[in-house]
Amino acid sequence: MKTPAILQLDRMSRAARIGWIVVMLVVMGPVHALALEHVVFRRGETERTVDGELVSETQDGGIMVLAADGALWRIEPKELVSRRTDKTPLEPLSADALAQKLLAELPEGFAVHKSAHYVVLYQTSREYAQWCNSLLERLHHAFTNYWTHRGFKLSKSRFPLVVIVFANRASYVEYAKAEVGDAAKSMLGHYNLDTNRIAMYDLTNGTGVRYTRSGFNLAAGTVATIIHEATHQIAYNCGLHARLSDCPVWFSEGIATFFETPDLTSQRGWRTVGQINTTRFARFQQYLARRPADSLTTLLSDDKRFHDTQQGLDAYAEAWTLTYFLLRRHPKEYVKYLEHLSRKKPLLWDTPEERIREFEAVFGDVKELDREFLQYLPRIR
Ligand SMILES: [Zn+2]
Repeated sequence: MKTPAILQLDRMSRAARIGWIVVMLVVMGPVHALALEHVVFRRGETERTVDGELVSETQDGGIMVLAADGALWRIEPKELVSRRTDKTPLEPLSADALAQKLLAELPEGFAVHKSAHYVVLYQTSREYAQWCNSLLERLHHAFTNYWTHRGFKLSKSRFPLVVIVFANRASYVEYAKAEVGDAAKSMLGHYNLDTNRIAMYDLTNGTGVRYTRSGFNLAAGTVATIIHEATHQIAYNCGLHARLSDCPVWFSEGIATFFETPDLTSQRGWRTVGQINTTRFARFQQYLARRPADSLTTLLSDDKRFHDTQQGLDAYAEAWTLTYFLLRRHPKEYVKYLEHLSRKKPLLWDTPEERIREFEAVFGDVKELDREFLQYLPRIR
């Protein structure tokens, strides 16, 4: 990939070349995989250093760097103090090194539980951490199986997947408010695209739910939240989407809600991936009565409905229903579209028109698809 681009550059005029260099830095991530950036920047009163792979660079000199713990650092031009590059490749931290780094960052009282794909830092009972971890590993297995069977080639996560489990809501909110603000108070957990970590708390805390031989018997809705966030984390680390790329929210949320419905009685397979998500579908059925004729278009063309408190739940419900329909009726096209989206690079934003065009290039006319979608609904039961 490197050589032809350089040859092409040599043949171009200087003016064209300047334009090209900007585009190349953004588009050609892999070229930079062999180099390490050492960046010093000032954020607020603090001067910080970060070493990592250059992921993208904006025209005004802002950069995005991927560090060895899997965190993405977006550094504004005005924050940048100095920058130097060498030829060392980025060496992701091992699970042990990552655990040590996190223990040093987090408040007192955390212990570590490691498994094949996860590093769980917990302030809870060991049983609870192990139960969460087994849930996550089962999800990971089911998730990778599901896409592999549908012909999508997943990549192996470059970093151990980090999950931080706080003892109670108060300590979670204390940590999460820096990332999500006041919304943390009403959340059970979240996945952060910048740090690449999931944070949550002991959901049995204060509920009276006790450990039994079959684990913790939490309400299905509560478990769905853990699964939802964990699905995002796997999807962003195993190549379904690139972090901070313009993957449409309906698409990433459609996948997260599609996996939300685990059969907790099944110890192994999660045989039931793709079951009807009754909560989301009931919501969509309520929405149908007031669903505007252009609902599918607004869902596909931008992410606004997801960020609006009035419309958010309807948008999630429609994302689940559409995803379910597409995976049932147009699985080949869905995987083709997934492949297309998975190649999107960070920080390059599509216009609403581009989103529709790219969607229609795979699934055909949106209006026609909407008719087929509505006709399919009675079959969902
Ligand atoms: Zn989500």
